[in-house]
Amino acid sequence: MDKNNRAVVVFSGGQDSTTCLFWALEKFDHVELVTFDYNQRHSLEIEVAREIAEEQGLKHHILDMSLLNQLAPNALTRADIEVENAEDGALPNTFVPGRNLLFLSFATILAKQIDAKHIITGVCETDFSGYPDCRDVFTKSLNVTLNLSMDENFVIHTPLMWLDKAETWELADQLGVFEYVRERTLTCYNGVRGAGCGECPACKLRQRGLDQYLTRRKGVNK
Ligand code: ZN
Repeated sequence: MDKNNRAVVVFSGGQDSTTCLFWALEKFDHVELVTFDYNQRHSLEIEVAREIAEEQGLKHHILDMSLLNQLAPNALTRADIEVENAEDGALPNTFVPGRNLLFLSFATILAKQIDAKHIITGVCETDFSGYPDCRDVFTKSLNVTLNLSMDENFVIHTPLMWLDKAETWELADQLGVFEYVRERTLTCYNGVRGAGCGECPACKLRQRGLDQYLTRRKGVNK
């Protein structure tokens, strides 16, 4: 078992992490998925992740992270808190403090357990919604800390870090999974699969990127 060819993908069943899953499948021989259950607003998210894992024949770990909800109830975890767009400069109320710190740490502990060197996460600084733990500098810093903590040489990969939403669609297309990602993933805060509800901030962001990409692709194919 060569751990250089083994990877864990932090996986939510959304557009970004599903694209990362296929990116990882191109790069590594053995890929496993980890999904964190923190009483997401739509429990459907876990279901969608489970289905995609099964469709791709990948081992899927679902870890209970309900403590996150206990520590930091917010719009993503509580149905009685509305998702709002942030005022200028403020963190949106979908921000869960420490979420990526915890998720990446647990994913890396899991990687250690299954003898994988690589951890892949779909965090992105370009469409930066103000989440400090999606920044490149944070991911790199945590990578060093995790390596020191376990005396290992893990590599945290962030293939979407500098892509905008249109470029993420382009990556899915290059990987040959454009339609799959478009139809099977769930990004919507209201739990509507594929194109989503069309109203929430996540749907608007996804649709804007998709429209941009389709326009660009049409231009190229002319
Ligand atoms: Zn939506």
